[in-house]
Amino acid sequence: MIEFNHVNKVYDNGSVALEDVTVHVDKGEFVLICGASGAGKSTFIKLLSHEVVPDSGTVIVNDIDVTRLKKSKIPHLRRRIGVVFQDFRLLPNKTVFENIAFALEVIEEKRSVIRRRVEEVLELVGLAHKANDLPEDLSGGEQQRVAIARAIVNKPLVLIADEPTGNLDPNTSRDIMELFKAINNSGTTIVMVTHDMQMVQYLDKRVIALDAGRVVSDRLRGAEFNEA
Ligand code: ADP
Ligand code: ADP
Repeated sequence: MIEFNHVNKVYDNGSVALEDVTVHVDKGEFVLICGASGAGKSTFIKLLSHEVVPDSGTVIVNDIDVTRLKKSKIPHLRRRIGVVFQDFRLLPNKTVFENIAFALEVIEEKRSVIRRRVEEVLELVGLAHKANDLPEDLSGGEQQRVAIARAIVNKPLVLIADEPTGNLDPNTSRDIMELFKAINNSGTTIVMVTHDMQMVQYLDKRVIALDAGRVVSDRLRGAEFNEA
């Protein structure tokens, strides 16, 4: 599903972001990317959506070499990748329903399909009763549920989450992790950036640790992982 083969990335200012990174992720896996600030985590996930292009090496997503993708094909790739951020990034003037529907309107999905899909994902994230609320009327955990619903409404190949619980308290974080687990159990591949060791232990999933742009460990069980 995802293959990084000897990927190197140095930014124009000389910052080494990734160095000889080779990582393979199978369809249906749930992978955590850990490491200190500056380790290369954001660069890793930006390579998946062609927001960053490597200096050398290849990045394959669903059999497509995204490093060689024509510009005209990039929007198509991005529609197949769902992304959830630490700061939710919902549209403040749109309701919960509209925030999620928007992802389907841009691909000109039929109104009846949009309604059905949005209702399905709202049910899945437990927020059917908040469909007509604005983001500002929701708690942080609820806003993140909306963002997750929006990210999966297109049935993406892979769901990327960048510190999704960074702004949430521990109890809410656990609820959100349970939601990610349920989405993963239904077959969606998940790549999640986190430096929350409690969440790594709690999830007990595969964890890849980056340090100064290099993969320094790759373990199948998060509960056996400790930072040292
Ligand atoms: P992380 O997400 O683990 O904090 P990043 O991938 O953001 O790591 O950054 C890796 C390294 O690349 C850091 O040294 C960072 O300062 C640098 N870096 C990231 N983005 C840019 C950029 N757009 N321009 C220059 N340097 C960058
Ligand atoms: P986070 O780790 O929370 O995702 P970062 O601090 O890594 O955030 O990056 C925030 C934004 O700034 C990203 O778009 C990244 O590419 C950019 N960035 C990070 N480090 C640098 C840098 N040294 N120079 C320029 N841009 C950077």
